[in-house]
Amino acid sequence: MLPVVVKFRSNETTAAAHWAATLKRLWSLLLLATLLSCTSIPDKPPTVTISNVTLIDAVHGRREGQTVVLREDRIVSVQPAAGPLRAVGRVIDGSGRYLIPGLWDFHVHLTYTDELTAAMPELFLRYGVTSVRDTGGTLEKLLPVIERMRAPDAVAPRVFFSGPLLDGTRVVYDGVGRELLGTAVGSTDDARQTVAALKRAGADFIKIYELVSPDVFQALVEAARDLDLPIESHVPLVMLARDAGPLVDGIQHLRNIELDCAANAEALLEQRRRIADQEKSMSGFDLRSAVREKQILPAIANYDAARCEETMAALRGTLQGPTLRLNAYNLSPPYSRPDWESAITLVPEPIQNQWREFGKNQLANPRERDLRGARFSLFLTGEMFRRGVPFAAGTDTPIGFAIPGYSLHRELELLVESGLTPLQSIGAATLEPARFFGLEQQMGSIAVGQKADLVLLTADPQASISNTKNIAMVISKGQVVFEPAP
Ligand SMILES: [Zn+2]
Repeated sequence: MLPVVVKFRSNETTAAAHWAATLKRLWSLLLLATLLSCTSIPDKPPTVTISNVTLIDAVHGRREGQTVVLREDRIVSVQPAAGPLRAVGRVIDGSGRYLIPGLWDFHVHLTYTDELTAAMPELFLRYGVTSVRDTGGTLEKLLPVIERMRAPDAVAPRVFFSGPLLDGTRVVYDGVGRELLGTAVGSTDDARQTVAALKRAGADFIKIYELVSPDVFQALVEAARDLDLPIESHVPLVMLARDAGPLVDGIQHLRNIELDCAANAEALLEQRRRIADQEKSMSGFDLRSAVREKQILPAIANYDAARCEETMAALRGTLQGPTLRLNAYNLSPPYSRPDWESAITLVPEPIQNQWREFGKNQLANPRERDLRGARFSLFLTGEMFRRGVPFAAGTDTPIGFAIPGYSLHRELELLVESGLTPLQSIGAATLEPARFFGLEQQMGSIAVGQKADLVLLTADPQASISNTKNIAMVISKGQVVFEPAP
């Protein structure tokens, strides 16, 4: 079983507020009950039945010989397969096969590469990724994409989004010579207004970035809690992971945690603050690069196990998305893997050509790669996971030549290399993302009442996590959306 994360997202302190919230909740339940009794779902026949299959999920572990019945977008029955099959709808023989919950990619950028955006939903689905979380993009570009993906007839993963990276007075991704993904949040007032505007625009969570000041960080956290928005983040450069981490729900890339694990962490923090103060003319991107260049490898070399123990203890309740396929890119660049060539043929041609060309050049001109950062990310993931820190699987697709969908399976493999079992790795791509949004009663496992997102595999993912790529069928929102030709 994976560790349970309990986060209090509400700032309600008075009894009155508590009762108001309870009444509101009762009212929504009543409304929901009325709606459910009015809809025709209970009258409709089951749409899909998967018989005699082995179920594997992070809540129940492994259950062999089960029959799962779906009606529209719900699992309506999970029972031992013995006895006559009363099921109707399309019947799929699951013997010798394995059923896992639909996978999440917990870190994607749908609008990062324009030529890829339209192709991404289908690519995700054919690799079993039935939910994605977009962790940074301008609302202007993002909202039309979200709207298309959420249209009632769309064949697309479920999608959750944050809008822009909430950065400091300087913005790392400022659109000058690189993508525009961030927005400046210069003051605590600004923080409140920005979060309120994001909530109005429908954002599902916020993402705090690296150049915010500590007071803006605090104001963003408070504003998000007031509006019940989960909080994703990088550890800001001028803060320590042990101080920032416990205030938020998630940290991406293990970013700047190594700086807190160094014996000289306090001195490094002072140095970062000095650089930020002195280098006023540097762009946000250059400032971050300068700091990283000066501090990351020395911090890793100065790793202090006793100090890191305190850091990890402080992060016990903060979901980590280590994006190992990106952090550990140098260990196995995508173009060097045997299945890259077949996967890349699925990508739209202009990108396919660019990426293939890049890969060929790299392979033709091999060079020594620095593996210290990559190895440290795997090491830290293992250490943190063993101490009960929860983990989620995200890839940063399409950054770093990440093929949508395909790259998630690499992330699962790297989580296992770091020390998770295959079942825990599957949990990181199913149950933990659902928990981040408080949706674990609806998503992340195979049980009655859960949404009908499922992946049928031809080989046992507990025997080898790489078997999550052996996909026989993908079901999204109750519909069979992918089935390779026999
Ligand atoms: Zn990202």
